[in-house]
Amino acid sequence: MYYRSTRDSSRRVTAAQAIVSGLAPDGGLFVPEELPSISLREIEAMAELDYPKLAAEVLARYLGDYSVGELLGFTEKAYSKAKFPAETPAPVVELDKGRYLLELFRGPTCAFKDFALQMLPFLLTSALKKTGETREAVILTATSGDTGKAALEGFADVPGTRIFVFYPSGGVSAIQRLQMVTQRGDNVGVCAVKGNFDDAQTGVKQIFGDAEFAEELSRRGFFLSSANSINWGRLLPQIVYYFSAYCDYVNAGKIAAGEEIVFCVPTGNFGNILAGWFAGRMGLPVKRFVCASNANDVLTEFIRTGVYNKNRPFHLTISPSMDILVSSNLERLLYMLCGDQQTKAFMAQLSAEGRYDVGEAVHAGIAKRFYAACCDDDATRARIDRVWKQYGYLIDTHTAVAAEAIEQYRVQTGDDTPAVVVSTASPFKFAADVCAALGAEAGEDPLASLSAFCGIQTPAPLSGLDSRPVRFDGVTDKADMLATVDAFLR
Ligand SMILES: *Cc1c(COP(=O)(O)O)cnc(C)c1O
Repeated sequence: MYYRSTRDSSRRVTAAQAIVSGLAPDGGLFVPEELPSISLREIEAMAELDYPKLAAEVLARYLGDYSVGELLGFTEKAYSKAKFPAETPAPVVELDKGRYLLELFRGPTCAFKDFALQMLPFLLTSALKKTGETREAVILTATSGDTGKAALEGFADVPGTRIFVFYPSGGVSAIQRLQMVTQRGDNVGVCAVKGNFDDAQTGVKQIFGDAEFAEELSRRGFFLSSANSINWGRLLPQIVYYFSAYCDYVNAGKIAAGEEIVFCVPTGNFGNILAGWFAGRMGLPVKRFVCASNANDVLTEFIRTGVYNKNRPFHLTISPSMDILVSSNLERLLYMLCGDQQTKAFMAQLSAEGRYDVGEAVHAGIAKRFYAACCDDDATRARIDRVWKQYGYLIDTHTAVAAEAIEQYRVQTGDDTPAVVVSTASPFKFAADVCAALGAEAGEDPLASLSAFCGIQTPAPLSGLDSRPVRFDGVTDKADMLATVDAFLR
């Protein structure tokens, strides 16, 4: 299995090479040359496997240069009880008939990004060996809140790697910030950027695109790699839980094998939902993917009209991990639907004019598989309150956007196919906003207040954060991001 760049499909690399480089040299993203297919029989067989075994099965189909045994060794460590103490890493919960939730926040940083970022260090360090790379990998990442911490936790003290994370100052929750600035590990660095997530992401992309800097780093024995969802090694592990969720429903007797379900995904960079779309293309019976957005509704408009237009106000919302106007992974979908030349042209238009129009035919292809809905902060809060009152189940602000979107979908389409809301973070990560939604006083200690109000214990990784020493209190201007990385590597 080889990988090609979305902007030049004549470029062909192995999985290990794709994982080591992150971004293709032409600025494109790597995508698998062909999608492996999985039959219903195989899905039924998968239903017998535990999560690490199922993960190794799925990953092996995409990673020709890794053996199943090697991958199983990785997945057993990445998804061990020590990392994911719940009965299974990705449990499913039934709220009501046909209304399900896939809990992806039982890992070490309490957000779904752990699924990819507990795995990526294994994939990457092994890929370094396979490609004969001797330089040290410097993971450089811009985060809207959850990626940063999950990447730090995954790469802390991993030999042969260093990691540096930029987050938008004021653009992440207080708990997300504390999680990052108190990170342990000798190979880690964290810095705030004055600006929003898109500023931080653009700055990181510029550093990646700086050939002179790359050359200098190389002389010093380093090369840059990415833990953002532009890296294929980040996206791939996320395909697994769509299969595991489906298998769990079949095992629980909620659906018959082969029956279609709907997934509703709270979306920002379009990584998580795209992983679901890959699962669907491989043969998982999924009727539709509902793309849920907050007030930053650029994807809602795109899926409804075929016009991507980032020329719009940027909103800071209570679901900050979805405050994004440029959803990088959409490029992979465009490539799969219309090839490298058109994708390259759309991306050029996006950077020149901030907008592109995919035209009727491509739009029709997208609208067949995706549905889009969005909501503002008031509706998000109302949904948290309603789910709590109706089901005694606590959801976070991102999951609430999806829980709202799926209800809009049901009303607007009349479709009552069993639907799974992908629950991306622990409500405790956004305790102050969740308290506000429930009408509970957050006070000085929102975690304790939320825990007391709901009678649910604060997850272990989040308790005691404020008593840990702050190791990283730096703030930089957008223009000085490169110098900050340079200094970190001195
Ligand atoms: C990152 C994140 C999202 C958005 O996921 P994408 O893959 O960027 O679309 C949604 N919810 C939470 C809690 C996140 O951390």
